[in-house]
Amino acid sequence: MAEPDAAGRFGRFGGRFVPETLIPALAELEAAFRDAWADPAFRARLDGLLRDYSGRPTPVTECENLSERLGLRLLLKREDLNHTGSHKINNVLGQALLAQRMGKTRVIAETGAGQHGVATATAAALLGQECLVYMGEVDMERQALNVFRMRLLGAEVRPALTGSRTLKDAVNEAMRDWVASVETTHYCLGTVMGPHPYPWMVRELHRVMGDEVREQCRALLGGDDPDVAVACVGGGSNAAGLFSGFADARTRLVGAEPAGGAAVGKGVPGVVHGSKSFLLQDEWGQVVEAESISAGLDYPGVGPEHAHLADVGRAEYHPVTDEEVLDAFVTLSRTEGIIPALESAHAVAWVIRERESLAGQTVVVCLSGRGDKDVQQVSAMLGDAAGADRGLR
Ligand SMILES: *Cc1c(COP(=O)(O)O)cnc(C)c1O
Repeated sequence: MAEPDAAGRFGRFGGRFVPETLIPALAELEAAFRDAWADPAFRARLDGLLRDYSGRPTPVTECENLSERLGLRLLLKREDLNHTGSHKINNVLGQALLAQRMGKTRVIAETGAGQHGVATATAAALLGQECLVYMGEVDMERQALNVFRMRLLGAEVRPALTGSRTLKDAVNEAMRDWVASVETTHYCLGTVMGPHPYPWMVRELHRVMGDEVREQCRALLGGDDPDVAVACVGGGSNAAGLFSGFADARTRLVGAEPAGGAAVGKGVPGVVHGSKSFLLQDEWGQVVEAESISAGLDYPGVGPEHAHLADVGRAEYHPVTDEEVLDAFVTLSRTEGIIPALESAHAVAWVIRERESLAGQTVVVCLSGRGDKDVQQVSAMLGDAAGADRGLR
């Protein structure tokens, strides 16, 4: 997982497909990030926040009970133990510090389920930045608690009223805002998507997870690397962080996509939100809505580097169904006492399904977030016979 080329391309994917007015802003952002990333003082400040504010390094947990049941060795990289409950804070703290360094006093973001919005509002509160989060009107209704969290943290939450009024519309609104406000404003994009330098920059900001987990696995495995590393894929940022630790290892890299939003599995090359990647489209080239049990994976595209890794065969991407995800959600809770985010449960679900082909292997899963935000939804979904079957009623 090297740097993209000068045009921001990973193989035939990526690039910078944006209105003319944003080209200088993206060039400025790239230059500022390169400069900051090479500056030991910036790195030390970020590392300090990751350690003392977010709680890094996050541990690796050996799942003895579930390992025995599945006939393999299961390790979890515990990104759920970060402040605000997921991996998203790694990226956001870096971008918020970068905005400050660039002299931008206002930060905007898009959010779907609200987790990236909450992380951004958190960092903005910490650094004294003005914060505006765009969120689809439909998502604001579905995730009312996260809307309140953002407001509590001092952010403004503005509904995106166009299209399906969900995540992709919120991205459109954020980009529109940025075109008009780029002098004072940094756009804090939440995953490895968008025009260059975002996919590369966001991956680098999540690399800390990959570096940690490689070292932790080596300590646990007597110097060896795991056989398989698995992460769920929405836009692909937690997967990019995990994979970056093992890109040059013998480790098999697996992304678990929601069956209803399998951009790598079912998408075709296309341009959306500023870069070229695999994208769910209909026969007319119109973007198709993703549909998944987890709002955090409800996105019709995937980051361009994942499209490239699939293209060259370095990583594989497999769909898992909502039903398999629910089972994994309950199973991990019961066997290990860890309630995963529904997103993260996709990765666990793939391991459970593939247990026979993985027999005897060591598998590290990125537990990208905790499931507290999802218990109400799961409770409602398992309210009848489905819950009774699982001993929940
Ligand atoms: C947002 C989110 C995801 C999906 O985003 P990626 O960029 O694909 O990592 C996955 N897990 C959790 C817990 C999230 O909050």
